[in-house]
Amino acid sequence: MSDLHVYDTTLRDGAQQEGLNLSVTDKLAIAAHLDDLGVGFIEGGWPGANPKDTEFFRRAQTELRLKNATLAAFGATRRAGGRADSDPLVRALLDSGASVVTLVAKSHVSHVERALRTTLAENLEMIRDTVTFLRGEGRRVFLDAEHFFDGYTTDRAYALEAVRVAAESGAEVIALCDTNGGMLPAEVADVVADVLATTSARVGIHCHNDTGCAVANSMAAIDAGATHVQGTINGYGERTGNANLVTVVANLQIKQGLELLEPHRLAEATRISHAISEITNVAPYSRQPYVGSSAFAHKAGLHASAIKVDPDLYQHTDPKAVGNDMRMLVSDMAGRASIELKSRELGLDLDGSDEADAAKVAQVLARVKDLELRGYTFDAADASFELLLRRELNGGLPDYFDVESWRVITDSRGEDDALSEATVKVFAAGERVVTTGEGNGPVNALDHALREGLSSAYPEIAHLELVDYKVRILDTEHGTDAVTRVLIETSDGSTTWSTIGVAANILEASWDALLESVTFGLIRAGVAPRRG
Ligand SMILES: [Zn+2]
Repeated sequence: MSDLHVYDTTLRDGAQQEGLNLSVTDKLAIAAHLDDLGVGFIEGGWPGANPKDTEFFRRAQTELRLKNATLAAFGATRRAGGRADSDPLVRALLDSGASVVTLVAKSHVSHVERALRTTLAENLEMIRDTVTFLRGEGRRVFLDAEHFFDGYTTDRAYALEAVRVAAESGAEVIALCDTNGGMLPAEVADVVADVLATTSARVGIHCHNDTGCAVANSMAAIDAGATHVQGTINGYGERTGNANLVTVVANLQIKQGLELLEPHRLAEATRISHAISEITNVAPYSRQPYVGSSAFAHKAGLHASAIKVDPDLYQHTDPKAVGNDMRMLVSDMAGRASIELKSRELGLDLDGSDEADAAKVAQVLARVKDLELRGYTFDAADASFELLLRRELNGGLPDYFDVESWRVITDSRGEDDALSEATVKVFAAGERVVTTGEGNGPVNALDHALREGLSSAYPEIAHLELVDYKVRILDTEHGTDAVTRVLIETSDGSTTWSTIGVAANILEASWDALLESVTFGLIRAGVAPRRG
């Protein structure tokens, strides 16, 4: 394995993207995916400056079990004129529990004087004091030199001095930031080479994509000797985004032979990129290099028959290396390997070694592809995928209850907020139960009515809680004929799971996802069907 750092800043810099809003739960889920991808470092946010980020680090300590990655807390050097050991924001970085602290510091004279409004000497002292203090507290320290490239152009000596001071104080990496994103690859390479020649720093690179060169600039920096690369999943970030970390890593690994991620983890990149899109609710960019659904798609015709002869004639690399697929729309969870792996996890015992197993896997695969054509996606609906496997491989699901009917009405009176009321009729434990539920929206009302209706047969589900609800309209060129995809996340207080529903009608899609959620909750709790 290469010792080059793969440093993800999706949760901090990526979250600056317009329209992207992450809850703490979303951030924890994304961090788990990043860890599965095998990145070395996950920057979780700025504890102390942002209450949500403080909460993220607090919950991460108990809820996130990282296998590969190390969490990094981001924060600024101490205030001008103060002391690091009594600075509340520096304290918050220690309190976050993160073993790596990434400090952002100024290295551009105009930013020091006009934005920070302090002296050039005091800025260097802020770097020295803060890095030294955090090192003394046992933290690994990385330093993001903000506006470095522009600062280097304005005053090379000062920019280099900031790097030197940080390195001599114990910062392990100095990441040179193209904060305004205006650089081109050749310039980046020259500056990185100069920093390496004139300081003792380990150099990292942090690029924004304003010239469309964030990936190229990151690659140029690494060619010039940088050994730490920062970026975000799907290139999320302010303005035109940050360097797309998956593209950078795939380029380095597949084209240049640097092993940054274990190959079986890189082969999860497509699935993970899409799963994270479902969490951010930002539609996946189909033309994204390597992992986009069009990245290896070919038009039919002349091409197609030649592709059958030798696919390598028409693709720059094997799509399987990044978990993508040629020609087909990506079938993320549907890979044979995922099906075998998941079925083993569930104790359904499919090792794929004999013909009967192979036939079952093929049957599940066909089912998944069929559902995907209708708008389902299983990358972000782990519980629905598990139910599908149980249905296909285990001869069906436990028969907990039957639904006779449901309906929901929403009315608005005068100035008051609209209220919804649902009626659900179910058979469970030998009884027919009719219940109503109210809610501030129709799905909320249906959820209340359904769980109320099942509560005497299955008191185990009383504490389930709907914690997130996401809607996406698919195939919008058909206007109102579009189908609606609903993703629901449910919590039992200690774990969460996601289910999916797809239908032309948004309430029907929501209802299907609710039923799956409750069924999964009962299976998870080990409850046997009570038919009365
Ligand atoms: Zn940035």
